[in-house]
Amino acid sequence: MTHLIWLQRDLRLADHAPLFKALQRQHKVVIAYIHDPKLTIGDANTAWLAHSLSQLQQSIAAKGGDLLMLEGDFEACFEQIIQKYTIEQVSYHYEVGQPFKQQQDLALQLCKKHKVGLQPFDQAWLPADQVLSQKGGTYSVFTPFYKKLLTLLNQVALPLNAPQDLSACKLEQPSALPADLIKVSQQPWAIKMLAHWSTAEDTLAVGEKAAWLRFESFLHHDCNDYPDNRDFPSQSATSQLSTHLQFGEISMRQMLYALQAAKSNPDYKIHALDIFIRQLAWREFGRYLLHFHPQLETEPFQAKFAHFPWDDRPDLLVSWQMGKTGFPIIDAGMRELWHTGWMHNRVRMLVASWLTKNANHSWRDGQAWFAHTLIDADPANNAMGWQWVAGCGVDAAPYYRLFNPVVQSEKFDIHAEYIKRWVPELKNLPARYCHAPWLHQASLEQYGFKLGKHYPKPQLDLQQSRAEHLQRVEANKNYT
Ligand SMILES: Cc1cc2nc3c(=O)[nH]c(=O)nc-3n(C[C@H](O)[C@H](O)[C@H](O)COP(=O)(O)OP(=O)(O)OC[C@H]3O[C@@H](n4cnc5c(N)ncnc54)[C@H](O)[C@@H]3O)c2cc1C
Repeated sequence: MTHLIWLQRDLRLADHAPLFKALQRQHKVVIAYIHDPKLTIGDANTAWLAHSLSQLQQSIAAKGGDLLMLEGDFEACFEQIIQKYTIEQVSYHYEVGQPFKQQQDLALQLCKKHKVGLQPFDQAWLPADQVLSQKGGTYSVFTPFYKKLLTLLNQVALPLNAPQDLSACKLEQPSALPADLIKVSQQPWAIKMLAHWSTAEDTLAVGEKAAWLRFESFLHHDCNDYPDNRDFPSQSATSQLSTHLQFGEISMRQMLYALQAAKSNPDYKIHALDIFIRQLAWREFGRYLLHFHPQLETEPFQAKFAHFPWDDRPDLLVSWQMGKTGFPIIDAGMRELWHTGWMHNRVRMLVASWLTKNANHSWRDGQAWFAHTLIDADPANNAMGWQWVAGCGVDAAPYYRLFNPVVQSEKFDIHAEYIKRWVPELKNLPARYCHAPWLHQASLEQYGFKLGKHYPKPQLDLQQSRAEHLQRVEANKNYT
């Protein structure tokens, strides 16, 4: 019997239940990844994928096996594998959101057609339908979901060890990395972006080993201060594990068990570990929501927002994308995203609020840009994050909460370090002028700085745009 382990976002060998179980059954095993250039999330994510697959291929080869990589139309490639290797059983890790849902639906059809067994495995802490309210309902607000989850954490399966021997996965010929992946990852912008994720030895910190190193480094150096520092974008105080998690280079279960174990080590503050676990639970919540409400990726959760009068201002959208809005904290965030493929969580909230609530642009435009440019672009977290900020999602930010980028900048980037790092036009100005340079034009002249020449004037009026947005929300209130 030949068993296909079909990979999606589970590019690791440890805690890989489908692989572990197939090897236990002593089957001949084919480990495969199918890259369909039509079914990708976005270019930044795809650039990372190329390197992650390459790392995994090396890890599999080191244990005597091979990774089969196919490129082309998903349906055709999947069918080709089933037929060529006379596959009788397929196992995979279930994923939410697109393009995974489409692939999984196609895999199901093909397995039915060829009478092949298909078994999905869950890589969340718990399968979504195990986290239900007392009445058996699903949660749509984070806090009650989280409280329930905490009562169930003792049921999370123990992470599995990595297999030692993968000779059962040996192929006649090793595969080459798909040409489209090479093309995307070799573009000059991608090379520059990925350079931000290199180690001191100049190698890209991608893959399972790099994910563990980053996790351990976070635990040792940053975790205790995480609750105090995580909101300050100039500090590297968060784990930056989101990309590793998105590609499944480390599993949520592995992290949970390591964090729980750390609680009995006096070097770690239990409160800090709990705050970090709570943040990971947001990720679980995003997947949970998309599992029960797959339309959340494209439709507002609150039906009344289906008719919300968003504006179509391509000029504002482009200045936002390019980091030229004239609001330094917004521009710093958008440029960090463009250069590194990542952005700090607080700044993600600020730039999303500016686009949806000040520029009054649909959250879908922002979500699409993030999907294209984030290396950690994740269908569930991205949709949840945008709908939360735009006020149209489950558990959304209250409609009257518009982040004021100036107030937020003064509070979370007091010395303008983050701003100056990404908006070098402002680097010679005192920090106090960097949060809202348009309010200090006369003082800026002594630094040879002219607004509109050295840095854009603000592209909109904060107070007026806020008032207009609130009026629209008010008018939309009773829409059903
Ligand atoms: C508009 C918007 C869009 C977003 N899009 C994405 C996305 O496409 N992909 C993505 O992974 N995250 C997204 N997030 C969530 C969050 O910003 C990132 O997960 C976080 O910044 C990643 O950095 P980190 O790994 O250092 O986080 P840490 O603070 O170290 O947190 C550890 C992990 O917990 C999870 N996590 C933390 N905060 C959140 C959150 N608010 N929601 C969901 N999970 C969270 C992530 O997996 C993260 O890696 C978005 C947030 C917003 C407001």
